[in-house]
Amino acid sequence: MHPDCERILFTQEQIAARVRAAAAWLDRRFAGRRPVAVCNLKGSVVFFCDLLRAMQTDAEMDFMAVSSYGNATAAVCRPKIKKHLFSSVEGRDVLLVEDIVDTGHTLLTLRAFLRERGAKSITVVTLLDKPARREVPAEADYACFSVEDAFVVGYGLDYAERYRNLPYIGVLKREACFASGKDEAPAGQAGADGFGS
Ligand code: 5GP
Repeated sequence: MHPDCERILFTQEQIAARVRAAAAWLDRRFAGRRPVAVCNLKGSVVFFCDLLRAMQTDAEMDFMAVSSYGNATAAVCRPKIKKHLFSSVEGRDVLLVEDIVDTGHTLLTLRAFLRERGAKSITVVTLLDKPARREVPAEADYACFSVEDAFVVGYGLDYAERYRNLPYIGVLKREACFASGKDEAPAGQAGADGFGS
């Protein structure tokens, strides 16, 4: 285990099993259809790649990025779209792939964006769900894991652009947050680059 993690929440094997289950669920949902799978960068990218390869469905790939809300509380800052889609989703079935639904603001923003662009349907799959921190009504259709209110890293998820390559999902030690030069522990906020984590 990485020394900055206090414990492993989900092992590589547990993640792989949940990804396979999510892929099977999505294959049933999209039977006979060709959805556009949208990855919300950057935190979702590892999950996105594994999920799409586990699916039989012939899905197109597209990418978006949403700004983080920095140190402001999520309730007062609406996330902003930083990177638009490459292709049109008008009249298309969309599979939105998220890393975490935390306060729900990011998901609400992305759903509104995709609806405004004429998506025929929007299915949301998230790797992690933190229901205890929800501030707005935004739910995924499928969550691989429900997690407690702790800051987690690994399997694509970062803190200050670190830990994304860990093959498991771990809880970050509080000391690791302060040691990174930031003066505040994270509370669901994204990485330092202004993109969603
Ligand atoms: P929201 O609060 O809008 O649902 O999510 C905001 C952003 O915070 C998302 O990009 C999500 O990835 C990130 N986030 C929320 N909780 C965590 C966490 O425990 N770890 C990491 N690395 N990112 C998180």
